[in-house]
Amino acid sequence: MESHYNTIVIGAGPAGLMAAVEAYNPKHSIVLLEKMRKPALKLRISGKGRCNITNEEGMESFLNRFGKKGRFLKYAFSQFFNHDLLNYLNELGVPTKLERGGRYFPQSDKATDIVDAFVKKLEELQIPIITQAHVTDLSKDDQGRFVLQMTHSGRPAQVTADQVCITTGGLSYPATGSTGEGYIMSKAFGHTVTDTAPSLVPVLTAGDIAKRVQGVSLRNVTVSVWSENKKVTELFGEMMFTRKGVTGPIILTLSETLVSMLDAKQDVHIKIDLKPALDHKKLDLRLQREIAEHSKQNFKNMLKSLLPRKMIALFLDILKIDPEKQLHQITGEERKKLRMLLKEFPMQVIGHDSYDHAIVTSGGVSLKEINPTTMESKLTERLYLAGEVLDVNGETGGYNLTSSWSTAFLAGRMMRNNDFRGN
Ligand SMILES: Cc1cc2nc3c(=O)[nH]c(=O)nc-3n(C[C@H](O)[C@H](O)[C@H](O)COP(=O)(O)OP(=O)(O)OC[C@H]3O[C@@H](n4cnc5c(N)ncnc54)[C@H](O)[C@@H]3O)c2cc1C
Repeated sequence: MESHYNTIVIGAGPAGLMAAVEAYNPKHSIVLLEKMRKPALKLRISGKGRCNITNEEGMESFLNRFGKKGRFLKYAFSQFFNHDLLNYLNELGVPTKLERGGRYFPQSDKATDIVDAFVKKLEELQIPIITQAHVTDLSKDDQGRFVLQMTHSGRPAQVTADQVCITTGGLSYPATGSTGEGYIMSKAFGHTVTDTAPSLVPVLTAGDIAKRVQGVSLRNVTVSVWSENKKVTELFGEMMFTRKGVTGPIILTLSETLVSMLDAKQDVHIKIDLKPALDHKKLDLRLQREIAEHSKQNFKNMLKSLLPRKMIALFLDILKIDPEKQLHQITGEERKKLRMLLKEFPMQVIGHDSYDHAIVTSGGVSLKEINPTTMESKLTERLYLAGEVLDVNGETGGYNLTSSWSTAFLAGRMMRNNDFRGN
């Protein structure tokens, strides 16, 4: 390792890999530092190892996936958006394919192909990735150069740089190397770090309901979030029961709301509408028809046409209706109880999983202190930040990786164009 570089990128996740490639300038010395043994451990496991790269959605709805803070990304996306990313990956040798929900994946279904392609590109550009290079402190010296204290393969080291890009990620899945150190580095330069919390995280529910139907996946359901008998929000899509609660795309998306409600000590519960296509009246008519048409059938059999098999025993227990009861014996009250459970299956939310199981971190380095057209710190010249270290996070569906890559693309391009004394 040299003792001085023009450009140092800290953290070789998706943002760091992109920032380093895009910072390439034949007149600059550049290095990408990564504390783990391999670059981009999180990217390798993203999308269950398949990597949901981006989404087909148009700009406006794409930005909305990040909530109010999405506006910050508008300029970055105007420079490098979903199809630019797909073309970019294609040029790196990673063809992609479009799937349900507008989601793009590598044609090979292998997230590692993306990592390998970036690594190969960096090799071609002769930009080294130094692994097991753990940056422990970032400051500036009297001459205005950045000073990085680090351990390299366990041994202390120091290196200086004219410009630095922090791409150290957030706090989620710390086993992949993302442990929030970029927040500390940013704070040292006066940056505000907004409150962080696990986001896109499974939630925990009371009792043993989830455990009893663990593994059951529900497609095309609506989950509504309630507090004190007031509906807060709802989402339609897919969810799954786990041993301790619920997860799946809509739950993960709702988790930011659920986590903040839990943090505010609110009473939180969800209701699962298993038949969202039918309102109460239509569902009741359907139940009446079924009962009339199959009056000699038993109740348990009727449930088979309404529910995934693994949920039948649970429904029978909750409804307290004899499974062998013939349908013509089902009372109006019992039919109502069944309808209510199908439309409003209740679960008390009592907590959420930790950062260990959160797809992203909400909160991070305040966007007010970052120039959205350059990703440069407004507080420190030639300090750039990109990716999840920033206080912007989105829903599931390829949005988070796109924001990491787009912000890093911009930061990289800016660093590329900077001049240094002696160059
Ligand atoms: C299980 C899982 C699945 C996901 N699937 C998807 C998906 O399919 N689609 C999607 O859009 N998003 C997905 N995400 C989210 C996405 O992976 C992240 O938003 C993205 O990886 C953030 O990129 P980043 O480069 O900013 O940070 P990270 O990927 O967190 O990378 C940061 C890097 O910096 C290194 N580092 C940290 N501190 C230091 C230091 N002090 N010195 C040196 N190096 C350091 C870390 O080791 C790490 O390699 C998933 C996340 C998880 C956990």
